[in-house]
Amino acid sequence: MTENNDRRPVAVIAFGGNALLRPQDHGTQEEQFTLAWKATRWLVEIIHRGYELAIVHGNGPQVGNIMIQVEEAITKIPPQSLDVCVAQTQGSMGYMLANQLRNRFNEEQLEKDIAAVLTEVVVDREDPAFENPSKPVGPYFTAYRANLLMQEEGWQMIEDSGRGWRKVVASPKPKRLLGSRVLTRLVEDGTVLIAGGGGGVPVYQDVGGYYRGVEAVIDKDYVASILARDLKAELFIVLTQVPMIAENYGRPNQRWLRTLPVAKAKEMLASNQFPPGSMGPKVTASVEFVEATGHEVLITDAEHLKKALARESGTFIVADGELEIAQRTD
Ligand code: ADP
Ligand code: MG
Repeated sequence: MTENNDRRPVAVIAFGGNALLRPQDHGTQEEQFTLAWKATRWLVEIIHRGYELAIVHGNGPQVGNIMIQVEEAITKIPPQSLDVCVAQTQGSMGYMLANQLRNRFNEEQLEKDIAAVLTEVVVDREDPAFENPSKPVGPYFTAYRANLLMQEEGWQMIEDSGRGWRKVVASPKPKRLLGSRVLTRLVEDGTVLIAGGGGGVPVYQDVGGYYRGVEAVIDKDYVASILARDLKAELFIVLTQVPMIAENYGRPNQRWLRTLPVAKAKEMLASNQFPPGSMGPKVTASVEFVEATGHEVLITDAEHLKKALARESGTFIVADGELEIAQRTD
């Protein structure tokens, strides 16, 4: 492992799109700016701890809203594919986050540049995920409209628990990020980076070597893990809805974990302690980072991030060492 001693340590943080657009809100632009402002409060703590910062945000609710706009305007404006919709969210969310970060830095008299970078992520067209698209995206449709879309547009759709029909797309594992060199230069230069938004714009390389957009969604946790490796980050932070990882989560014998050695994390993955749709990809992405770099992953929620950075909360996934049970969750 080679360390770059000229720069401050780098932290990459991944968080869900629902941090900036929650189901319980109306979803107005004002609300989204307010939530972005709130996010800057915990984001800036990472900088105060001495790290250079790279941010990977999710975009589930945001890209869903754009797909609703596409559908509602279908008789007036030609539709755009999912990869283009993802690119749009990188723009709109990158703007809101960058704008509010700038205001936070001004308030704290922190001199830092910010760059939101449109990021394409390469997937394999042969990934088995494409044979069985399973990730529902966008609006709910009537059976009538769904039939039309399946027949005329070749969409794959499923009936979603009595609420209507939804498009399903593949969720392939990302292979690599395009433009890593420029992202690295920005971070080494002290710029706060926003990249890989929504898991990145999915592209694949065709037989001629040309990159083509593809209708798919990429898990932002996997992309953040790749970015953390590309940037040679010292810390990878996965922000979610729980303060820590638990063993036997939701069961009477549940135990919150402070330190989770990577070998034990792999055992827990194998014994289905982390469901595929939620904690599973976060732990897998973490294991891949720790095994590739020897550095740590912190998993916690926004409320506990500051304390976790001081090692008083959160779960740290580490290369070796002992399993450590947390004594308290606050
Ligand atoms: P995000 O929106 O951040 O992607 P998810 O809901 O997809 O969050 O995944 C995080 C959720 O995983 C937690 O809120 C928790 O309910 C659930 N979870 C499943 N297994 C565990 C576990 N072993 N420890 C902690 N949380 C777990
Ligand atoms: Mg999730």
